[in-house]
Amino acid sequence: AIYSRHSFAVYPLVVQASGATAVVTAAKNWGNDLEAMLAAVTEATRLIFLANPNNPTGTWVDRISLQAFLEKLPANIIVVLDEAYFEYVTETDYPDGLTLLQDFPNVIVTRTFSKAYGLAGLRVGYGISNRSIADILNRVRQPFNVNSLALAAAEAALDDIAFIETSKKMNTAGLAQLTNAFDELGLSYIPSVANFVAVRIGQHTKTLSAMTVYKKLLHSGVIVRPVDNYDMPDYLRITIGLEQENEKFIDALKQVLLSK
Ligand SMILES: *Cc1c(COP(=O)(O)O)cnc(C)c1O
Repeated sequence: AIYSRHSFAVYPLVVQASGATAVVTAAKNWGNDLEAMLAAVTEATRLIFLANPNNPTGTWVDRISLQAFLEKLPANIIVVLDEAYFEYVTETDYPDGLTLLQDFPNVIVTRTFSKAYGLAGLRVGYGISNRSIADILNRVRQPFNVNSLALAAAEAALDDIAFIETSKKMNTAGLAQLTNAFDELGLSYIPSVANFVAVRIGQHTKTLSAMTVYKKLLHSGVIVRPVDNYDMPDYLRITIGLEQENEKFIDALKQVLLSK
């Protein structure tokens, strides 16, 4: 199984748990490098994980690049197109994975109710693929793997288009709020289309590591995410919150950086 460096932490876990061999490709501008992934394909390759947008970097691949990648890829290799943050993306050339299923029957699109729908505690998500892949997945999945309350909530959530629109608007505004603050503070960050943004801490503040900033923020009641386990020791991943929550984080960050 192939996946990129700085990609979702669950991929190495499931690859190892299934006894497969992980092939980790280099990242390009912190995101999935589709050329590198193609170059890594061998006779032994069975599956590729592609998070679009990617977690924890927030990077994404556009429609033309993804289409070209799928065209070059041998059709017997499964592509798990992980669209956990699909609902947040506003870019017009961001590809909706579902539109690719017709031409590329080796693609499985996965989505979740854990992010934009705010139902992470219910543990419900879904995959969409062609029938023969779905049939195989159905043979190995646990029976009743989604409980009835989660199913009822998911069904209601799918109809709640207004909620998703509100989430999306709030997220777009919050992303600008955070990146404006980073610009003001002279902090660089990875351009993101998801509901989080990875900001670089290590650069100006040589005395303050990302881990130190993380701990200091924690003391002021703000929880952010260290990403050293993603080979990103200089970065912190900040989840976009409500306007006042973002403000609280920005104030706390200023305090920490100024009081070094
Ligand atoms: C959160 C996330 C998922 C799915 O999360 P669940 O809560 O297990 O549905 C899948 N892929 C990525 C990249 C994620 O960040």
